[in-house]
Amino acid sequence: MTVEQALKQGRALLKESNIDNYSAEALWLLENRLGINSAGILAKGGAQITPEQEADYDNDLRLRISGVPVQYITGKWDFYGRSFFVGEGVLIPRPETEILAEESLRLIKEKASPVVIDLCAGTGCIGLTVALERPDARVYLVEKYDPALSFLRKNAEGVPNAEIIKGDVLDTAFLKALPLADLIISNPPYIKTGEIPALQREVSFEPETALDGGEDGLEFYRAIAGAGFECPVIVECGEDQGESVKAIFGGGYILRDYFGLDRIVIREGDLK
Ligand code: GLN
Repeated sequence: MTVEQALKQGRALLKESNIDNYSAEALWLLENRLGINSAGILAKGGAQITPEQEADYDNDLRLRISGVPVQYITGKWDFYGRSFFVGEGVLIPRPETEILAEESLRLIKEKASPVVIDLCAGTGCIGLTVALERPDARVYLVEKYDPALSFLRKNAEGVPNAEIIKGDVLDTAFLKALPLADLIISNPPYIKTGEIPALQREVSFEPETALDGGEDGLEFYRAIAGAGFECPVIVECGEDQGESVKAIFGGGYILRDYFGLDRIVIREGDLK
């Protein structure tokens, strides 16, 4: 089978199975199996793929059809121009979370050697982006769960200004014992417990611990606000939570995402 035929067949199979983004996803799976990018796929359309590659690709397509998110099949995903390891046990970086990374960088722009803490770090995509964009910063990444920590450790390898701390953000004493920071960043779990069963099929493969923000989805914001950080705090939130999160922090402002939905709350404060 040629590269071009494999792509065509993969797309048809995903489309038939009602995968919305079938065209891009078949391409990503094929790229991943062949170890080439999309330009390579175009350039090598007539080349033959090996029977092993064909079998692996076919297996990937079946997994995708069974509902497994494409990112868990490829084992990596791009965020802010870099590739991060992802897989079962850790939340997949969302494109709208890039706004959180970008705004975080803006907030520490004028500060030399800032200290930054990313709470509920997951893959580490936000905190590690800050660490990599600002080599003079020191970034602490806090995560509680072992499966997520194993991805976080892999992603943080070779990032000298990033340090991982295992801990529970709902534990106020733990939060109060963290190093003094210039900025607290968090994309905590913020889905209401009762809404979790109705989420998209793909999301059900992601860890509930990364999604469940308690009965009203606001549990983690209360914990973070309760720790009394004096520095600026920037958090991601759900599309209907901006005002509630602002109220929990006693003020601040809301930023919206590309769809015009509440996505970020910034509580201003003093840089250390
Ligand atoms: N944005 C994610 C979703 O809608 C939720 C992530 C989170 O709870 N932090 O699936």
